[in-house]
Amino acid sequence: MPYPVPFKRLDIQPCCICGQGIMHDNQITFVRVRGLDYLVITPEGVKRTHGLEQFFGGGNVGAALAHAMDDPELAKVTIPVSDKLVCLKCATETTLAEFIEIVSVPELLEPDPS
Ligand SMILES: [Zn+2]
Repeated sequence: MPYPVPFKRLDIQPCCICGQGIMHDNQITFVRVRGLDYLVITPEGVKRTHGLEQFFGGGNVGAALAHAMDDPELAKVTIPVSDKLVCLKCATETTLAEFIEIVSVPELLEPDPS
């Protein structure tokens, strides 16, 4: 897909945080979040990688040799987030952690009372 990805009529959706239109504050800029993964470390993968690196002497050489022997998954995606639109107000007032919580729990999506 070409980058930047064009934005067309069918791409319009409300802000995923406040539920209002993306231009509700008469702002002409907004944010499109193009996928986001919330990951959790896989302890077995980290231990295995570290153990192999130490086995091969550690440092860059140990890491390269360990990688050649095995390449375990170090983290798993727990919450995949598809494309979302965020109005400028929400984009400037919401932390990334708050954004992840909101998009992963649809019940939290409520229109802004103001
Ligand atoms: Zn918003």
